[in-house]
Amino acid sequence: MSFNDLGSELLDEFDSYDDHECVRRFVLEDNIVAFIAVHNANLGPALGGCRMMPYATETEAVNDVLRLSRGMTYKNALAGLPLGGGKAVIIGDHRTQKTPELMQAMGAAVESFEGNYVTAEDSGSGEEDMVEIAKFTEHVTGLPPEMLEGSEYGELGGNPSPLTALGCYHGIKAAIAHRYNNKKTLADLTISIQGVGAVGLALAQLLKQDGAKLIITDISEEGLTRAKKELGDVEIVKPDEIFGVEADVFAPCAMGGILNDQTISELKVDIVAGAANNQLLASHHDKVLMGKEILYIPDYVINSGGVICVGYEYFRKSDYNPQDFNIERGSMVNHVERIGQTVTDNILAAQEQGRPTGETADQLAEEKFLKGGALADMNDDTSEEDQANYGSTGGTRLVQ
Ligand code: NAD
Repeated sequence: MSFNDLGSELLDEFDSYDDHECVRRFVLEDNIVAFIAVHNANLGPALGGCRMMPYATETEAVNDVLRLSRGMTYKNALAGLPLGGGKAVIIGDHRTQKTPELMQAMGAAVESFEGNYVTAEDSGSGEEDMVEIAKFTEHVTGLPPEMLEGSEYGELGGNPSPLTALGCYHGIKAAIAHRYNNKKTLADLTISIQGVGAVGLALAQLLKQDGAKLIITDISEEGLTRAKKELGDVEIVKPDEIFGVEADVFAPCAMGGILNDQTISELKVDIVAGAANNQLLASHHDKVLMGKEILYIPDYVINSGGVICVGYEYFRKSDYNPQDFNIERGSMVNHVERIGQTVTDNILAAQEQGRPTGETADQLAEEKFLKGGALADMNDDTSEEDQANYGSTGGTRLVQ
């Protein structure tokens, strides 16, 4: 494994560059290239997942790692975690190019940040990959519960999706309370859900328990069959019909970029609130939603249950716990439930300022991390000794 840091003269060319603290290019096993970006570590070590995707060019990968790491700074800050924002991307097909050796090299890459970057699973990586990464660094979370010593560890480890769903459920309830002046509950409402995978199905179950009527869709027949079996009485529509159905709340739980001029014009709901990352195709689409009097809950505000879950696991295993959180499952669940209050704070700030919720969420997050306590003294000048240990690829040009 070898690496070099990208300089600001090169990074300035990227739209998503936002004075990131450190962006490092790695050459791993079989010349596979990876990037790790730390956007901002004012609040603490930068936590964000490790994505593996067959990006067409290094430029595309850098754009993604810059954008995603910045997003993690905002998400972690609003989630009330003493963590900064970072992300890792590996250029490659996770189905054909991922090997234990590759992930171990990624572990060494994470370790080069000496604790200022903490990794976790993301698209194209899973628990089993975190196990390989953990052979070379302690700064990894989202490990299988059985790997964590002691029952308290086990209670914290494992799949974060149910916690993401729980946070969304509380966020949706807060949005409903505001929108309907506490006059309606889930039992009075219809919720449409796009995607009944790990998060969407768990969310559907929580909503159904409270008596909500559900309309669901998925591109996977298998997923729909499982959902029907677990949910019972539920209406199923085709994937392209979900935007136009009559409902009170639309919960996107599949993929990003789905709120655009076309789909927003079809919506017949009062609220959009769901787990999918990067739901707005462009940042101005929160204004378009506001123009249609649809209350939009920004994705990163409502979907932070998963990062709270892996964050608590990291606090426990690393002994890094500057806010003295009570690190056990009950407190972690309470922390996830407070997403409801964060959603309310965001809605009230937007209402007071007459601005879209996406803008005020960013402002609330910036108030937290820009004045953050500089807990991690991120040093983006890699020492000569580190370079000697890992080897330097020299130069800052990207291979296209
Ligand atoms: P998943 O892969 O388990 O589920 C996604 C589901 O969406 C699948 O069933 C898939 O078939 C379906 N889908 C894909 N394209 C679709 C389309 N066009 N129309 C309808 N259905 C479609 O993923 P997940 O873990 O449930 O995550 C869902 C979303 O939430 C993703 O955007 C993810 O980034 C985000 N998210 C997840 C977590 C987590 O803890 N898992 C945390 C934060 C954010």
